[in-house]
Amino acid sequence: MSKFRNFKMVDYVVYGRGSFNQLDEILEPKRKAGPMIFLLDHYFKGKTLESRIPLRRNDKVIFADVTYEPKTTYVDSLAQQLKDEFGTVSGVIGIGGGSTMDLAKAVSLMMTNAGSSADYQGWDLVKVPGVYKAGIPTLSGTGAEVSRTTVLTGPTRKLGMNSDFTPFDQIVLDPELTADAPVNQRFYTGMDCYIHCIESLQGTYLNEFSKSYGEKALEHCQYIFLQKDTWDAECDDKLMMASYAGGMSIAYSQVGVAHAVSYGLSYLLGTKHGVGNCIVMNHLDEYYPEGAAEFKRMVEKNGVEIPQGICKGLSDDEFETMINVSIGMKPLWENALGPNWEKVMTREKLRALFEKL
Ligand code: NAD
Ligand code: ZN
Repeated sequence: MSKFRNFKMVDYVVYGRGSFNQLDEILEPKRKAGPMIFLLDHYFKGKTLESRIPLRRNDKVIFADVTYEPKTTYVDSLAQQLKDEFGTVSGVIGIGGGSTMDLAKAVSLMMTNAGSSADYQGWDLVKVPGVYKAGIPTLSGTGAEVSRTTVLTGPTRKLGMNSDFTPFDQIVLDPELTADAPVNQRFYTGMDCYIHCIESLQGTYLNEFSKSYGEKALEHCQYIFLQKDTWDAECDDKLMMASYAGGMSIAYSQVGVAHAVSYGLSYLLGTKHGVGNCIVMNHLDEYYPEGAAEFKRMVEKNGVEIPQGICKGLSDDEFETMINVSIGMKPLWENALGPNWEKVMTREKLRALFEKL
């Protein structure tokens, strides 16, 4: 008998241009003894958004350094800093891209769970709920706002704290906040969403739940990145909803080849999630013929550079490391290629793919 996933979702969602202005009111009933901590993407230091944060009492803004994707050591040090300074806090509010939102989720969990965040990398290892947490995206595409994971690079692996305690209690989806994102970054993160859709819709785990969300998200991506000639408010609105729906789609299915290979790049070379997925998708004609061709049209139309030749000159050992990380993502391969995936995606074949990137 098949067992169906019973998944925990975000508790509250507010959507709309200017909905950020409701944050004070939303947080009011969540305030307890300690302060609210606003983890703000360091890009916004000194920008208008910083001055719009509704600080009360001893609330604190911490600038999230997202130069690198989140590490367990960074999560642990942020949580320790808050415990030392305040004992406990009322909540952690992440305002930024996927990296800042993931940091906020992880810091919230580490305010109440003992030890290091590295101890909880995996599935359902988190023991108790964290403190109240809210996510406010300033880039659209990762789906981190709706997911039950927070992707962290730890001492031995890059893996999420995947649990029912991980989803946000509240998300604030205000498309105005994404308006000034640089063209390349917006494209890379937007393509994360597009690739979620392709991998979900072309996967063997597909079901009507995932399909319904995935098709809508895909339609938005196609409209934004192929039909529109200039970026405007409509694009921000639609991409924010595409990110949400794309996240909901993979919540009940799985990602696939681009993500599995991209994780290998990211582990060895530190390649960021969005751009890494694009680098791989550029070479996936064999696995996603239509998706890869459409992706290339999107790249062309939006005038974006996709890095090439990033694996040139790597040693055999380095290729082995990437292959090990990638091939370890079993559910992703099974979703992409079916139960006999190991016969299809051999180590040799994967090496040849890495060599093309
Ligand atoms: P990001 O959060 O890493 O940010 C990329 C860059 O954009 C940073 O320099 C940041 O300062 C800047 N930035 C953010 N908002 C901006 C804005 N409005 N204007 C200008 N600059 C802005 O990028 P991302 O693609 O959103 O997130 C990638 C991260 O998300 C990775 O760490 C990845 O592992 C994670 N992720 C998590 C999930 C999940 O389910 N938890 C899913 C996919 C990806
Ligand atoms: Zn992704």
